Amino acid sequence: MKLIIGNWKMNGNMDEKNFLFKDISNTKTKNKVIMCLPFTLLWGDSFGVTLGAQDVSNHENGAYTGDISVSMLKDAGVKYVIVGHSERRTFHNETNETVKEKATLAIKNGIIPVVCIGETMEEKNAGHTTAVIKKMLTESMPDNGEFVVAYEPRWAIGTGVTPTTSEIVSAVKTVFDALPTPMPILYGGSINANNAKEIVSIPYVDGLLVGGASLKSETFLPIIKSIN
Ligand code: PEP
Repeated sequence: MKLIIGNWKMNGNMDEKNFLFKDISNTKTKNKVIMCLPFTLLWGDSFGVTLGAQDVSNHENGAYTGDISVSMLKDAGVKYVIVGHSERRTFHNETNETVKEKATLAIKNGIIPVVCIGETMEEKNAGHTTAVIKKMLTESMPDNGEFVVAYEPRWAIGTGVTPTTSEIVSAVKTVFDALPTPMPILYGGSINANNAKEIVSIPYVDGLLVGGASLKSETFLPIIKSIN
């Protein structure tokens, strides 16, 4: 079984959620579909689709205006939470240390963190991909418990460009070797219906993290169907 995680980022409204979720629930798949939505959409009918969030506070509760705690996510029925997405690392200066705190807190509260890692184009061009991935993973992952790793090269996110098969093999094998025990490893970055099947068939790839293409039935359902 593969994991197919949709990440809506800061997009969508309740009508669009209901529309897509109904379509997902009517789509036969042997894989697991998880939708990571903005906080405001984490309520109402989920039509049997597993709910995820896109971030969580690294604090349990208290005076952190604007933040959302892991117990709040649990209360809303969330099962997975993305931590350390490159957009959080870039626009909110999140460090590996903060990401690890978030992942640890999520596990402690029964929510599975999806720990995102990936190199920039500059790091890739300098031949540092393996070292960057290893460092990000070992410093960001929790010490214990069940989690998911999403390998997302930053230069592939939202660009329409994907790594070659051998680049993905090398990166996910690096992740696999750095994990103390096997955990699902996802690939993310410019996934669409034309490349999903091939990428998910690469050794060590246990699923996909899909951004832009997860927003609408027309682009997301063909991805789900293509990897059945
Ligand atoms: C993402 O943001 O996690 C992502 C994979 O985005 P996209 O599919 O749009 O490249």
